[in-house]
Amino acid sequence: VSRQGGGDYCLYDPQMSADLREQTLLVADLRQAIDKGQLELYFQPKVDAKTLHITAAEALLRWHHPERGYVSPAVFIPLAERNGLIGAIGNWVIDEACRVAGHWRALGLRMRVAVNISGYQMRQDDLVPRIEAALTRHQLQPARFTCEITESVAMEDTKGTQRAFDQMRAMGLHVSIDDFGTGYSSLATLRSLPASELKVDRAFVSDLAESEDARSIAASIIGLAKALNFKVVAEGVETQQQCDLLMRMGCDELQGYLFSRPIPAAEMERLALAEPSE
Ligand code: C2E
Ligand code: CA
Ligand code: CA
Ligand code: CA
Repeated sequence: VSRQGGGDYCLYDPQMSADLREQTLLVADLRQAIDKGQLELYFQPKVDAKTLHITAAEALLRWHHPERGYVSPAVFIPLAERNGLIGAIGNWVIDEACRVAGHWRALGLRMRVAVNISGYQMRQDDLVPRIEAALTRHQLQPARFTCEITESVAMEDTKGTQRAFDQMRAMGLHVSIDDFGTGYSSLATLRSLPASELKVDRAFVSDLAESEDARSIAASIIGLAKALNFKVVAEGVETQQQCDLLMRMGCDELQGYLFSRPIPAAEMERLALAEPSE
């Protein structure tokens, strides 16, 4: 894109252009990342707040770029969403997560696998059939698979998201509402979703110890979730103090650096195998 030559664009912003160029390059690389095997799933455990046993592992995408090194999903996922690449990437994530979870199941491990589903994916009509095919391919029960969908996407209430939720319900997939508390939930909509879990956003966890306000907000979000019969998971738990407060507020499960950072599948497997079995 050349905006210098024409003379019509007098508001030329060199910084903007550099960002755009940068993004274009990144998108081109991202297009090839799957084929070149540069994408990898890391996993982070969710643990039961009482027993601290692993209940599930959330798949988090990692991109090892040959020259730039590690590129954060917070950077490339939004980019992939805007360029339609999230379809191919999302399909790869679903299949890879099922492959790994199928392996865990074969080892006798009981934890679920949780996969982040983007707004773009929710609006595609083949999302749930694809999940179903991946589950079949890797001999996994639907109840072993959790779809993490952000609150703002879940509240969209379009034909596409409606259909996806209906199919998820019919199949018996687990649904978790991610980043809860950051969107604007209608309680009526929330209750109508096939979700069984709410994940309290890290924003409400991070300054729990320091801020009275943060504690009241967290307590009311958790109270609301429990009143509506959701299982409540807190994300971004980094300190023992946060952990203690969240347990007292009634959180069912916890996730965060205090327990484990996101780790490669093989490490996740070792962690789970090392647990005492019930
Ligand atoms: P998210 O789903 O809310 O995931 C939680 C993020 O918080 C992850 O960042 C995780 O590494 C980080 N985290 C976990 N525990 C802690 C903690 O104790 N402290 C702090 N400071 N951070 C913690 P990550 O892996 O960089 O992912 C960022 C976001 O990218 C995710 O947010 C999710 O929205 C998106 N994402 C990641 N993988 C995928 C994917 O496969 N598909 C889609 N659609 N989105 C993905
Ligand atoms: Ca998530
Ligand atoms: Ca989250
Ligand atoms: Ca988040």
